Amino acid sequence: MCTYFCKKHGLLAGGLGLLLLVLLAASVGGTHAVAGRHHQPFALTDIPVLNYHKIDDIDNPLAVTPAEFAEQVGYLADNGYHTITPDQLMGYLKYGRALPDKPILITFDDGYRDNYANAYPILKKHGFTATIFLVTDLVGNDDRFLTWDEAREMHKNGFVFGSHTVSHLPLTTLDPEQIAGELAASAAEIERQLGARPRYFAYPTGAYNLKIEELVRQSGYRAAFTIRYGQVGLESDPYALERIPIYHSSRTFRSFYCRIAAAPVLERLGIIR
Ligand SMILES: [Zn+2]
Repeated sequence: MCTYFCKKHGLLAGGLGLLLLVLLAASVGGTHAVAGRHHQPFALTDIPVLNYHKIDDIDNPLAVTPAEFAEQVGYLADNGYHTITPDQLMGYLKYGRALPDKPILITFDDGYRDNYANAYPILKKHGFTATIFLVTDLVGNDDRFLTWDEAREMHKNGFVFGSHTVSHLPLTTLDPEQIAGELAASAAEIERQLGARPRYFAYPTGAYNLKIEELVRQSGYRAAFTIRYGQVGLESDPYALERIPIYHSSRTFRSFYCRIAAAPVLERLGIIR
């Protein structure tokens, strides 16, 4: 099915579809082989981290429509996926703590109000949670973004809030003092408003480098998410975690399905970016 979808989506052509199925089977077998060789007490699994922005009916690649989002979340629920928190993800990566079957981390960048109005009811219906990275200067100050009351309600219901800085400026354009200021001030404001210090960070526009990673670590964050396509695994850099961006397109669900189902293989072949 995925081969069909992927080909239709224009990502793959001709015999590559068959190769994909073969590699997919090899990748499943390979996971167990690696676990056995290193005598790990747990199965080695790569974790998909989905990255959304807006859930809205406007025509914008960054805006998945509520109907599309409901279809995607329904697919995950019907196929036995369980949403996890970043703490669970890091507990698994650092200490090998157990995860539920078919774990998946759903994230939203920027903190749009439609995350509360449109995504939250759909996620709640399935008992799912998500992690939202806030731009603290925009929360409660701009109608397009969440209010702190909305964030507090979601936080009480298991949603996790991380920092996406104060201003959303790409950190590569700032000096180290400014970067440290963005990291500290956004964390302080989220802690003041929600009563919990954010431990996770997402780079605005995805821009980062090794120096910035180090500043994020020094500021007390436990991990940081990029927009680099891929799944998170034991070899991932905790301050440059991969995600799977989900966009709106004429074939949104097919693209979504391909990105989820074939991610382990497509990532190795470098087909999807
Ligand atoms: Zn952003």
